[in-house]
Amino acid sequence: MATSTSVTTYGNYVDGQWKPSASGKTFENRNPANTDDLIGIFQSSNRKDVEEALDAAKRAYETWRLVPAPIRAEMLYRVAQMIAERKEPFSRDMTREMGKVLNETRGDVQEAIDMTFYMAGEGRRMFGQTVPSELRNKFAMSVRQPLGVCSIITPWNFPMAIPSWKIIPALVCGNTVVFKPASQTPLSALNFVKVLEEAGIPKGVVNMVTGDGDEVGTPLSSSETVRVVSFTGSTKVGRIVNQAAAPTFKKVHLEMGGKNVIMIMDDADLELAVDGCLWGGFGTTGQRCTAASRVVVHEKVHDKFVEAFVARAKTLVVGDGLDDNSQVGPSISQAQLDTVLKYVEIGKKEGATVACGGNRLNDGPHATGFFHEPTVFTNVDPTMRIAQEEIFGPVVSVMKCRSLEEAIAIGNGVEYGLSAAIYTQDINRAFVAMRDLYTGIFYINAPTIGAEVHLPFGGTKNTGNGHREAGVAALEVFSEWKSCYIDFSGKLQRAQIDVEQI
Ligand code: NAD
Repeated sequence: MATSTSVTTYGNYVDGQWKPSASGKTFENRNPANTDDLIGIFQSSNRKDVEEALDAAKRAYETWRLVPAPIRAEMLYRVAQMIAERKEPFSRDMTREMGKVLNETRGDVQEAIDMTFYMAGEGRRMFGQTVPSELRNKFAMSVRQPLGVCSIITPWNFPMAIPSWKIIPALVCGNTVVFKPASQTPLSALNFVKVLEEAGIPKGVVNMVTGDGDEVGTPLSSSETVRVVSFTGSTKVGRIVNQAAAPTFKKVHLEMGGKNVIMIMDDADLELAVDGCLWGGFGTTGQRCTAASRVVVHEKVHDKFVEAFVARAKTLVVGDGLDDNSQVGPSISQAQLDTVLKYVEIGKKEGATVACGGNRLNDGPHATGFFHEPTVFTNVDPTMRIAQEEIFGPVVSVMKCRSLEEAIAIGNGVEYGLSAAIYTQDINRAFVAMRDLYTGIFYINAPTIGAEVHLPFGGTKNTGNGHREAGVAALEVFSEWKSCYIDFSGKLQRAQIDVEQI
């Protein structure tokens, strides 16, 4: 589908067809580094489109679940290879539509490649258990089985990686999916789905419906057809999804907000810690669920650390992610930038000190984008809102502590529990912190970001609901156990009753 200008109008992907939404309505996708740059027009879908996609997924499930898992996996290996071949154009599209710098979007696409190769391997594993039976001539085992239709709802900050974390394990397990990407990043979603189509995934197995969270997300969370909802996004929306899914007892997998901490002890390699805090705090413009938005520093090295950290933060080059010189891109949208500006004001009112940054950038090369200076707050009290609430922008709050115990208490003193890190040369301190931080991810002498696809990913408290994605843990979300008993004794044997005496 094309408009009369050179801007392309992209369709939904339903039952193997690219098609317009039922309402005929569309929305624009614009570059957050340059809002004059219109990237494409996408479908504003509604409940009707979702129902059509769910029906297609339900029909396709009946054949896809019977395709042997190693054959499903072969298609996924093809998918991984095709994404690898298109890594550079996919990365450029992603930077253009969501702003993070090219090196990071290359990392995002690489993560999708890694996840797809890794999960395709599960097509020949997906281990169950065989165990002895308590009865003679009886065989016992557990096998994984798919659940059916999965709703996949994703955010914009990892536009290809996060969909791959969900869609690929869902497919290898034998499920079918309806995918709703974030409205800020539909092109990266479409690039991914097109590869799945071209790699030969049968029609109806993967469907994509773009549009508003309420209109598209609500039926995806509540429909009777859906057996699994896998959602990544804010805690606020995750709660809505959880409630919408509850009456039909779906499996609900939620990955939500974070307020992650880096703890720096008095014996830390400070240069390394500064490197880590810059990358953890300002990578992806602070728009990562695992962003290191809090830094807790031992009082003995606090001033030295702050001096070095602030000096380096001031040198970061903010700009269009497509420019090789840029180190920090724009916020995703005006709304997200407004949130950053709001929290900077809150921090000032709460009595924290702006050690650097604190302003929007909107002159010269920054005139048409949502840019903000990398900002460091010092003199932050752990109870302040800037130290408690997820800002999702280039804002880091630095706090002082007197001991490891105090650092751990501050680290744990938020509603979220995604990622935490410690910088220390003392193995005892490192192990105590690793044990006592109640998070799903923990790093020693590395920042809070940098997860690898073959380990479980997710968080505690208001970050998650007990599930994990990535690693073999992803199979727990997208499959369920069936225990099978095979009696070859030729007679009725009653468990727990016909107990053999010896
Ligand atoms: P968001 O919650 O606004 O949106 C996430 C997705 O939910 C989008 O596709 C959106 O359209 C959809 N949605 C909105 N309303 C809905 C509704 N009523 N029903 C169903 N779906 C609905 O989040 P965002 O702004 O896209 O992403 C940023 C958030 O995501 C941050 O809080 C960040 O911490 C979190 N995040 C978490 C992880 C993790 O793994 N824990 C990873 C990345 C991002």
